[in-house]
Amino acid sequence: MTNDDQLRMILAGLSDLKERSPFYREKYRDLDLSAVKTWEDFRKLPMTDKHELRDAYPLGLQAVPEKDVVRIHSSSGTTGTPVIIPYTKQDVDDWSEMFERCYRMAGVTDMDRVHVTPGYGLWTAGVGFQAGAERLGAMVIPMGPGNTDKQIRMMQDLRSTVLCATSSYALLLAEEIEKRGVKESIRLRRALIGSERWGDKMRKRIASELGVKLYDIYGLTEIYGPGVGISCDCDSGIHYWSDFIYIEIIDPKTGKNVPDGETGEIVITTLRKQGAPLIRYRTHDLSRIIPGRCECGSEFPRIATLIGRTDDMVKVKGVNIFPGQIDEIISEAEGASSEYQVMIDHLNGRDIMTVFFETKLPAGEKEKLEGAVCDMFKSRVGLTIVAKAVPMGDLPRSEKKSNRIFDNRY
Ligand code: ZN
Repeated sequence: MTNDDQLRMILAGLSDLKERSPFYREKYRDLDLSAVKTWEDFRKLPMTDKHELRDAYPLGLQAVPEKDVVRIHSSSGTTGTPVIIPYTKQDVDDWSEMFERCYRMAGVTDMDRVHVTPGYGLWTAGVGFQAGAERLGAMVIPMGPGNTDKQIRMMQDLRSTVLCATSSYALLLAEEIEKRGVKESIRLRRALIGSERWGDKMRKRIASELGVKLYDIYGLTEIYGPGVGISCDCDSGIHYWSDFIYIEIIDPKTGKNVPDGETGEIVITTLRKQGAPLIRYRTHDLSRIIPGRCECGSEFPRIATLIGRTDDMVKVKGVNIFPGQIDEIISEAEGASSEYQVMIDHLNGRDIMTVFFETKLPAGEKEKLEGAVCDMFKSRVGLTIVAKAVPMGDLPRSEKKSNRIFDNRY
């Protein structure tokens, strides 16, 4: 799928978008979509954000006649009104085709037994994992979440070979298997992990405790659900299905597109979706395009593993900084532990970012490590910081990365 093919599909979709979708008829009321002809024109189209989808509750996004809708899914309504996405028969088929590709990318075959633990129902996860595995011809064990005893028993008795789970549930299962001393009777060899952003340390723990190869699956309910992309054997980012979705990366503050390779917000346009097509949908997920072809041989383009949400981003001296980047640097700095805290202050007319991190090193060696951390921030983020090494146990513990950054400027 070349860039030109994608543009052709986008323009074809735009040609009758206003007739199909009441939502976009209203949103793009003052725009002549037939005047959109180039990528430049397309990038000027106003983006679509989640609150607009919420305002369309319940079925304002529906872009096909009632008879063509076969199912709805809903994104979690943690902040109030949920978003309802209608699917046509074709949408459901397309989604399972993408999901089947994910399984193939992960080396799953029709001889595998796929243990599905994500939830079923309004949420897209469980049924998506199931449909793709069935399409592939594998045996699905549709567990859903919870009841750890039963999960482990079925895993043993049915000899599940593939685990589908969120990162936190995979970790919980790994710990329970360890605790019960039943690892010998578990046959898992691969795990498809989705729907949460998770650190490298957690990933390594799950992989080693379960003895599996891990694959990161990407997706969101507004755009089909999980399964629009997955990592490959080379662990070098997430391949996404560019014949179904178009991905661009923007600066979340300015809304402008950033060059390939630069980190920003993932914005997705659906290329074939019928029930609820979306144009330039802001995901608020942070990643970057990885230029070039992957060593695995796949021609599908890649984004990097997600590094956080736009809400967690801070801007210091004109540079966007994400908790995931700080995480990465601290975890790579030799001698630094994984605990850190960031203070951003405004003193004498300029921003100052101080990064505190813990270390076991003696006083004499701390300065060297501080210098190394400063250099890493300078070269990777393009920002001069103040690095302060503190003794182990000095910093408060927090589960959430975003709680480690304190912006004292406002
Ligand atoms: Zn690859």
